Amino acid sequence: MSGTPMRLTIGHLYPELLNLYGDRGNITALSRRAAWRGIDVTAIEYRLSDEIDFSALDIVFVGGGSDREQLLVCKRLGEIKARFQEYADGGGVVAAICGGYQLLGRYYKLKNETVEGLSVLDVFTESGEGRLIGDVVIQTDFLEQPVVGFENHGGRTYIGSHAPLGKVVSGGGNNGTDGAEGVRYKNIIATYLHGPLFPKNPHLCDYVLTKALEKKYGAVTLSPLNDDAEFAANRFIVNRFA
Ligand code: GLN
Repeated sequence: MSGTPMRLTIGHLYPELLNLYGDRGNITALSRRAAWRGIDVTAIEYRLSDEIDFSALDIVFVGGGSDREQLLVCKRLGEIKARFQEYADGGGVVAAICGGYQLLGRYYKLKNETVEGLSVLDVFTESGEGRLIGDVVIQTDFLEQPVVGFENHGGRTYIGSHAPLGKVVSGGGNNGTDGAEGVRYKNIIATYLHGPLFPKNPHLCDYVLTKALEKKYGAVTLSPLNDDAEFAANRFIVNRFA
């Protein structure tokens, strides 16, 4: 990694509305882990009224939110839907958590209203009886170590023919019944796991950074970091719940 430093721009969508359980910490983890490898990162926070130039973004991050906040956001999403779809279909990297994950799907049906989604993923969500709350452990098919996090959602998501992000080892996952958690599709990572997700799972954070760098610069290998503390914390949760 010599010469001009590599650069990434992260677009953080609507953190004033979508930012539960420290979801913003994911931006910090992405930024710091990139910076420790000499990669320049700019993170842009967008408000609902802001125009988003997707062509300038390498990672789009959408956090979780309450049903009320999702309803507020979905009106605006209708206006940016085509450009978001173009970005994601073209291999743009997206990381979406919980309410953000639901918004990537076709819809989230509440008791009396429906939150229209971006239809970037062919999934749908319906509110269920009670909430799925607690620590979650999943096993993916592309990372060696398990991924851990915390879920708290009333919605149940059904992913059809999509591949999940991982299989539930412990916890509820997408709907508490089919053993699937999240979705991994193209360069989209969508999951119910808060935590924040990336500080708790440095391997998943590096996966997302790698995808963003590969799209922009071609094949890259991130230099290793000392993640002993992070993986000790990760293992603690795995041993406790799995
Ligand atoms: N409001 C959504 C639900 O309850 C998402 C919640 C969240 O983002 N934690 O299912």
